[in-house]
Amino acid sequence: RGKRAFIAGVADDNGYGWAIAKSLAAAGAEILVGTWVPALNIFENSLRRGKFDESRVLPDGSLMEISKIYPLDAVYDNPEDTPEDVKSNKRYAGSSKWTVQEVAESVKQDFGSIDILVHSLANGPEVSKPLLETSRNGYLAALSASSYSFISLLKHFIPIMNPGGATISLTYMASERIIPGYGGGMSSAKAALESDTHVLAFEAGRKHKVRVNTISAGPLRSRAAKAIGFIDMMIDYSLQNAPLQKDLSAEEVGNTAAFLASPLASAITGAVVYVDNGLNAMGVGV
Ligand code: NAD
Repeated sequence: RGKRAFIAGVADDNGYGWAIAKSLAAAGAEILVGTWVPALNIFENSLRRGKFDESRVLPDGSLMEISKIYPLDAVYDNPEDTPEDVKSNKRYAGSSKWTVQEVAESVKQDFGSIDILVHSLANGPEVSKPLLETSRNGYLAALSASSYSFISLLKHFIPIMNPGGATISLTYMASERIIPGYGGGMSSAKAALESDTHVLAFEAGRKHKVRVNTISAGPLRSRAAKAIGFIDMMIDYSLQNAPLQKDLSAEEVGNTAAFLASPLASAITGAVVYVDNGLNAMGVGV
C-alpha cells in the first residue's frame, strides 16, 4: 500500500508545504492537508477554480490530488481550551473541528492512519520587532504557533501513525546565528523547534518507532516570508555568499522531505538537515 501524508500549513502554491506535498505525491503518497482556518475559503476556491492547476503538475504529467483538506488552527489543542471569542469569530464560525485534537480524530475516522506528518507553519505577530522590543504576549504567541504547534500535532497524531512513520518540520538558521529582522521571538521559536526535534525523536522513536527530523531551509519568497519584509535581501545575500550560487527552489526542500520520509532515511532521526545551498557552512560573507 502507498503511504499517506498529512501536511499542516498549506494555503497556496508558493510555500514549502505545497512543494513538500508535491514531492510526496510524486513519490506515490496520498496527500491530506491542514489549512489555517482564515485561509481555508480562498485556498479551496482557488483550487476548485483551477488556479493552481499549473503548479499541480507532477513529473509524470498527472495532477497532484489532495484527498481531503482539513481546516486547522494549530494554536488550539481542543474545543475546551479554545476561547469563546475565537469560536464565535466569523472567520472561524463557518468551519468546525479545526483544533489539533479534532483534526486528528477526523483523519482517524476518514482514513484510519497516516505514515507521514509534516509541520510547515509558523506565525509571529511581532516578527518585525527586534527581540529587545518584543512583548511577552508576542513572544509567547510566536512559540505557541511555531513551536508548541509541532508538539501538539505529534502528540495527537502519533496514536494514528504507523510504526516506521516519519515527521518533518521546517526551521531557519536564525535559531543559531544572528539574522537581524527575524524578530518577535521567531528566532527563539526556531531554536525551541530544533531542540524539541532531538527530544521528540527520542520519545517518538522509543514509544512508536516514529522518526522526527527538521529541515533548515534557505530563503524562499513564500507568503509568510514576504510578510516579514526582508526576503529579497536574504535571497540576494544567499546568492552572493553561499557555496552554491544558485536560486533555491521549493522543490529542493520538497525532495529532501520526501527522502527523509522514505525508507531511504530509515536510520535518520533527531536531525537538522540543511537545505540552503550550503549557506550555513560559511563563517563570513565573501
Ligand atoms: P507559507 O506561508 O507557505 O506557510 C506558512 C503557513 O502557516 C501558511 O499556510 C499559514 O496559513 C499557516 N499558518 C499560520 N498560522 C497557523 C496556525 N495557527 N494554524 C495552522 N496554520 C497556520 O510560508 P513558508 O515560508 O513556506 O513557511 C513554511 C515553514 O517554512 C515555516 O515553518 C517557516 O518558518 C519555514 N521556513 C521558511 C523559510 C522561507 O524563507 N520562506 C525559510 C526557512 C524556514
